[in-house]
Amino acid sequence: MSCLIGPHTADPCPRCADEAVRLGTPSSAADSAEVGYACDRCGHVWSRLIESDLAVCDTVRADLPDATLYATVWGLEGDRVLLRGPGGDWHRWVERWRILLY
Ligand SMILES: [Zn+2]
Repeated sequence: MSCLIGPHTADPCPRCADEAVRLGTPSSAADSAEVGYACDRCGHVWSRLIESDLAVCDTVRADLPDATLYATVWGLEGDRVLLRGPGGDWHRWVERWRILLY
């Protein structure tokens, strides 16, 4: 069964605007709540805060190694978020740091 609904989504670098797929890397510090990104073209490094106030029914985007998903938050459990695909076609648990409010 596949729950993939599309290819990756590319985002622009804040400095040089080079568009690329960047999955990000969660900070290794235990008390950190950031995901880091780096631009292969200009070397710019930046980060974003992990979404901490997700709620059921929020529309979100999830950057996964195999695809970018657009979905609805269906459940919350610790560091995991249950996503529901359009029309309820699929459900999938995703790590919270991969989620972006959309
Ligand atoms: Zn750049």
